Amino acid sequence: MGGITGTFKGFGVTFSHMFRKVVTTDYPFKPPTPAPRYHGRHILNRHPDGLEKCIGCELCAWACPADAIYVEGGDNTDEQRFSPGERYASTYQINYARCIFCGLCIEACPTRSLTMSNEYELARDNRQDLIFTKEQLLAPLLPGMEQPPHPMRLGDSEKDYYVGALENPGTSAGAERSPMGPGRYALDETPGVTFPGAEQAAQRAEAAKGSKGDRA
Ligand code: SF4
Ligand code: SF4
Repeated sequence: MGGITGTFKGFGVTFSHMFRKVVTTDYPFKPPTPAPRYHGRHILNRHPDGLEKCIGCELCAWACPADAIYVEGGDNTDEQRFSPGERYASTYQINYARCIFCGLCIEACPTRSLTMSNEYELARDNRQDLIFTKEQLLAPLLPGMEQPPHPMRLGDSEKDYYVGALENPGTSAGAERSPMGPGRYALDETPGVTFPGAEQAAQRAEAAKGSKGDRA
């Protein structure tokens, strides 16, 4: 009798799982959408005129518990200006073989230069490619932005970038102006702008079309 009860109990577990919501996803053709505040790959944001928000202060590197960030600061000059104020990051790297996506670096950043996106497809087949350079991390130029180096366009001093932005938060937006929301632009298709991850998304869409054709 006990054996029969045990059998039904066992099947009960099986049947209860058969009617639960399926959690399997059709990855990579239909990648799941992470939570809005998901910690994905980092972005180095820009001011609305295209200048970089990063001032090369290294606070993010000091805050990182995994020693994943490497920054070298450089001096801006009137002829070669990459950010408002005196300094910019001449070298900026994040090693994703080390990063644990804790977000302490973005908390430490005094200029909100560093934020995190929702992009999670970071697997690479060698360690070297897991070291993302400044060029890879920099936010794309949105319409109206100009590729640095160039003079300050929003005022005569860096105060116009920071104090002015406090008075009018809209003027501080760089990459945050994404139609998908703050830092969420990995798979966006804004005309004329190439977003990080857009290429992979396009490849995935092509592959999905191909696989549908194979099945037909
Ligand atoms: S998310 Fe955490 S581990 Fe990754 S770079 Fe930032 S501070 Fe370091
Ligand atoms: S990302 Fe922020 S904290 Fe890191 S060097 Fe640039 S300004 Fe400083």
